Amino acid sequence: MIETIDTVRGMRRFLAGRHGEVALVPTMGYLHEGHASLMREARRRAETVVASIFVNPIQFGAGEDLESYPRDLERDRLIAGEAGVDVIFAPTAAEMYPQGFQSYVNVEGITTRLCGASRPGHFRGVTTVVAKLMNIVQPAVAFFGRKDFQQLAVIRRMVADLNLEVEIVGMPIVREPDGLALSSRNTRLTESQRKSALCLSKALGAAREAFRQGERDAARLSALALSILAAEPEAALDYLELCDSQTLEPAVAADEKSLLALAVRIGTVRLIDNCILGEK
Ligand code: AMP
Repeated sequence: MIETIDTVRGMRRFLAGRHGEVALVPTMGYLHEGHASLMREARRRAETVVASIFVNPIQFGAGEDLESYPRDLERDRLIAGEAGVDVIFAPTAAEMYPQGFQSYVNVEGITTRLCGASRPGHFRGVTTVVAKLMNIVQPAVAFFGRKDFQQLAVIRRMVADLNLEVEIVGMPIVREPDGLALSSRNTRLTESQRKSALCLSKALGAAREAFRQGERDAARLSALALSILAAEPEAALDYLELCDSQTLEPAVAADEKSLLALAVRIGTVRLIDNCILGEK
């Protein structure tokens, strides 16, 4: 069975005995094929693959799903082992944030929009934990999914701004055959909510198809996607925005690289999805 380490000291000791480059795949666990795709690519790219599994309390706001977030470390160990991970770093919250902790990494600007607007403090929690993980693991390369498109952009910003010596690789979104983007939170959907959740990828698909047929007006593309979400009674819109995929600023005219990003609540479960309009 794959080795699991829960202390920073233990992790440093493990890595001191390894040669070659280290790859890091940060996750919150309850692994699925999306996570596994990152791990397999990490396996291809480095001698040592570390996956972290940590439900990071400081990236959850009050009233969010920190307590109900799905967890199953034994299952995760099997999936990570099969995907070629060498070691799992699964610290406790007390190990990461011991008494007296008071240092945070905060990326400005780009974190104020989209998910940052509806989840204040979320990205500060993400960048703080990712910076800590990078300091602990010292990876040459780290893997993130484009499912969390804004998160990836924020991490890239942090790495550039703080001169961190790590390559950031963004990986494609892995979806169910019917289009639903894989997410640990999908397991919290009831059968009927699972069907409703299809409205996210359908809304993106409709906008992409209209773009393919020549529509370039951002308002009309957004309205089309919104109409599909509105037709699903169980879905409550958090946000839907067409934006520049680099700056995440709202776009007036769409182009091949425009990002359509959305967040929707289905019951108590908040789901996100996105697409680049010009991508298949
Ligand atoms: P999480 O455990 O949800 O924090 O996700 C850990 C990493 O896996 C993040 O970089 C996510 O973007 C990535 N990830 C999550 N779901 C998917 C997916 N469906 N496809 C690709 N990457 C994903």
